[in-house]
Amino acid sequence: MDQLFPPALASRKGIERRFIFGSDFPYRVPEQLTITTKNCKTEFSHGYGGLGNVWGAAVMPYSEHQLRKWPISLNELKPSYKNILRYMPISAEADNLQKKYPLFTDKPEALKRNAPTDFLLKKLTEIEHHLQRNGIEFGRARLAVDASMGEQGCRYCGHCFDGCPYQSIFNPRYLFENLQKSGLTIHKGFLVLEVREIENNVEVIAVEVSNGRTRKFTAEKVFLAAGHFATTLILARSLNLLNSPINIKSSQFFFFPPFLYKGHRYDISFTLADIFIELINPYISSEQVHLQFYSRSQIIEEQLKSLLPAFFPKNIAFDRVHIIQGFLSSEDSDSIELTLTDKYSDGSKVEIRGIENTSTHKAVKRTQSLIMTLSV
Ligand code: SF4
Repeated sequence: MDQLFPPALASRKGIERRFIFGSDFPYRVPEQLTITTKNCKTEFSHGYGGLGNVWGAAVMPYSEHQLRKWPISLNELKPSYKNILRYMPISAEADNLQKKYPLFTDKPEALKRNAPTDFLLKKLTEIEHHLQRNGIEFGRARLAVDASMGEQGCRYCGHCFDGCPYQSIFNPRYLFENLQKSGLTIHKGFLVLEVREIENNVEVIAVEVSNGRTRKFTAEKVFLAAGHFATTLILARSLNLLNSPINIKSSQFFFFPPFLYKGHRYDISFTLADIFIELINPYISSEQVHLQFYSRSQIIEEQLKSLLPAFFPKNIAFDRVHIIQGFLSSEDSDSIELTLTDKYSDGSKVEIRGIENTSTHKAVKRTQSLIMTLSV
């Protein structure tokens, strides 16, 4: 069992990468790509399904507030949000969040609440007016997880961070496999280098990862959706932007451990986010902060064990300490600069550099102190 679901490696420094059934394949990079990083630590994924193999399944539409500076409105995005639900399951409750963040379904199904989630949602409801005055809205986490009683419905086995054995967590890989079964050809094992417009078609130049041979594909249209690094790199190569740094926005995340005064003793049964908190408070930022509340999991317990002194009764901590993961808007986050430093007929060299944002630290500190003052 430990080989299939190896215990998370946690230390005082933090939590190591999450594997899927003990494999690091989502993080592997083809040898034709050389990446150096400066002033940042980041992940690349060239595994089939990308980081969708190890994601936390949190999903939420953008709010009008988040989109106010974009050239596209929530109304224009709505049809696409609805379309996504044709192939992606969602676990959600019809709660107050839906006023600003529509559900796009009339019959939402939700995973079972565990004891601290139920307790916390009730407590937050009791102080809802106070929270609203502070720009805080809350509700059940929205997750791309099958909450039905069907074949792929969640069985509460508690391995969400190690690879879902029942395929209940949406993974783009499953979608690709279904498309393949329905007759679509999927070319695997290629690293796309460039796209070129030729007359009425588009040419895709790729290298076969196993033997380094280059190959060309021709198509009427090409949709690029390879993730922010790979898509930017393909475009940089295609436009011959050698040694030209390209700034990439990011949404920085941070963790802090809230302490519930009431302890809950329960078995680990589901370990993704339980509650979403949305925060728009000018004291923190003009931008929105998104927070996810997590209850008990093996990862959190390993982390607590590494942080607490040996004499501290671990069960008291496990029953009361939870984790909140916060995400800042790109306006408040550090950004990343990608530079294509060299290109060959069968590969590329790229440098990724972290660029600090002076707002980040203040937004993180102020978010933590506001949340920690809520006495629940
Ligand atoms: S608890 Fe997590 S790993 Fe287990 S079936 Fe549900 S979603 Fe999958």
